[in-house]
Amino acid sequence: MTTETYEFQAEAKKLLDIVIHSLYTEKDIFLRELISNAADALEKFRHQQLLEEEVFDADASLEINISVDEKDHTLTITDSGIGMTRDELEHNLGTIAHSGSKTFLTELSEGAQKDVSLIGQFGVGFYAAFMVATKVRVLSRSYHPDSDGHEWSSDGTGSYTLTPSSGLHRGTKIIIELEEDAYEYANDNAIKRIITQYSNFVPFPIKVTGEEVNTVQAVWTRSKNDIKDEEYTEFYKFIANAFDEPMTRLHFSADAPLAIKALLFVPETNTETMGFGRMDPGVSLYCQKILIEQHSKDILPEWLRFVKGVIDSEDMPLNISRQALQDSALVAKIKKIITSRFLKNLGELAKNEPETYGKIWKEFGIFLKEGATSDFTHRDALAKLLRFESSAAEPGELISLADYVERMKEGQEDIYYINGPTRASIETGPYIETFKRRDLEVLYTMEPIDDFVFTHLGEFDGKKLISADRADLRLPDLSDTKEKDADDAEKLEKPVADSLTKWMKEVLGEKVKDVVVSSRLEESPAIIVNPDGMFTSSMERVMRATNQEHIISGKNLEINTGHHLIQGLADMRVEDENFAKNLIEQLFDNAMIQAGLMIEPRSMVERSYEIMERALKK
Ligand code: ADP
Ligand code: MG
Repeated sequence: MTTETYEFQAEAKKLLDIVIHSLYTEKDIFLRELISNAADALEKFRHQQLLEEEVFDADASLEINISVDEKDHTLTITDSGIGMTRDELEHNLGTIAHSGSKTFLTELSEGAQKDVSLIGQFGVGFYAAFMVATKVRVLSRSYHPDSDGHEWSSDGTGSYTLTPSSGLHRGTKIIIELEEDAYEYANDNAIKRIITQYSNFVPFPIKVTGEEVNTVQAVWTRSKNDIKDEEYTEFYKFIANAFDEPMTRLHFSADAPLAIKALLFVPETNTETMGFGRMDPGVSLYCQKILIEQHSKDILPEWLRFVKGVIDSEDMPLNISRQALQDSALVAKIKKIITSRFLKNLGELAKNEPETYGKIWKEFGIFLKEGATSDFTHRDALAKLLRFESSAAEPGELISLADYVERMKEGQEDIYYINGPTRASIETGPYIETFKRRDLEVLYTMEPIDDFVFTHLGEFDGKKLISADRADLRLPDLSDTKEKDADDAEKLEKPVADSLTKWMKEVLGEKVKDVVVSSRLEESPAIIVNPDGMFTSSMERVMRATNQEHIISGKNLEINTGHHLIQGLADMRVEDENFAKNLIEQLFDNAMIQAGLMIEPRSMVERSYEIMERALKK
């Protein structure tokens, strides 16, 4: 027999080092991870058995056995699953391939041992065994009729060995030699406690020293009325590998047009905002309790990747390939039905339990917005679920587009929105002035994605969605419009104004598309607006950040000819033309800042010093 020694892949080594040296106290989870691997292996075998004619040890019953040796301080977990070949042992246990786990690794090495508990979600669960082991031995024989058994063994420090091993049954036996701190795990009761806590729903018998411990239940196949809240929650924790309580769930079944059972959960937290990177999908596809695809990318739209759960359809062919899943018209139909149901359910939740919906919106609203910018099929349903701050609501209070439409004024035809980084900056900026005077409600879009959402929606309930920074903004003159502060008599006369705007355009050159007299400004001297109706300033910010600004055409500078700063410019042009040019540039930069658009700070700062110096000389 030849034993060969191999080094762990560098990342695997780093991860093992962290796991071994972590002071993480909830060591129990190592067992959950090993059981989940055993259950995965059994599930894979069951699937494979249906497809292949010949498998090794065909009669072995599908179960997980755990035994302990209190004297030797060992714990052994055996499954009759799919097993691993020599190559698979080497690849699966010696490297980390999952992309999320690399992110996890970076997070982990930056501190926070508390998050070791998330280990299972990032596809590195097997290594959790090293939290309690001085040595881990994995004896495995693949289900392929012509494969041989092997033993993988390691103390988790730098290397592992592989040795041929004869006389093994199909599946995997993991022998853990416990370290002194973890001797307590060489005890039946300790093991049973952990199983009932974490692994109750594993769809295969788990036997501890011959006694079956778990209750096998595919909750989603049962009738709603027979399932207690706690059972749902436990099921959620199991399938999502999670510790939180789901915020809401959807359990439904349909017989026509397709036989579908679905049980979906919304978790409590959005791990993407915690820095774990993009989430993998969380819903698995089954056919009559047999797994077809774990964490399926095809069964729900990508923007629903935060949802966890199970979809079971007996109309699905079991042996469907990954490619066929992607192309399947059946999968597309299921996807559409379930997504519609899920969104409808959220809509009902928003109506009946607004507080819960508010929490869901806060965590996962960004995903619904992602859907609203990309998914044409569910656009209308998504539009109803959107929430925004508004000029007519208290700070922090969120309203729907339907709320807005309901209180639109007589004579008002469009829905208006303004983007800004904060409520305060919107409310003190120039864009809101004209709305205030007319007492028109304006939605505040404060996330970069918001204006893309509105542009994509185009309208809601037949009302156009209009950004306040559009050059062609024409607001209705309503009966209760307040008197303008500056009446027309106080404005520059048309020939003077025309010559001023023309000159300003010359001074600013390519920076602006045009300089025009504003009819919307009250207090501010100038404002940047977008003559092309496609892109708002907020969208431009995003496009600049992603180097796509070439798609955007220039801006207009609108000036308030009733403002004394603008009026003074005409005189200053005569008195000191160069200084007047400086003022125009500064005016433009200030307006760009108020539009939230970046300007070149160096020349702006220098120029403002020149202006200050001149002010001091007076
Ligand atoms: P994950 O389960 O998320 O893939 P793990 O670190 O828990 O990550 O396991 C790594 C891989 O090792 C698994 O994907 C699987 O291929 C293999 N593996 C682990 N345990 C078993 C087992 N009991 N039987 C067969 N394969 C296993
Ligand atoms: Mg695992």
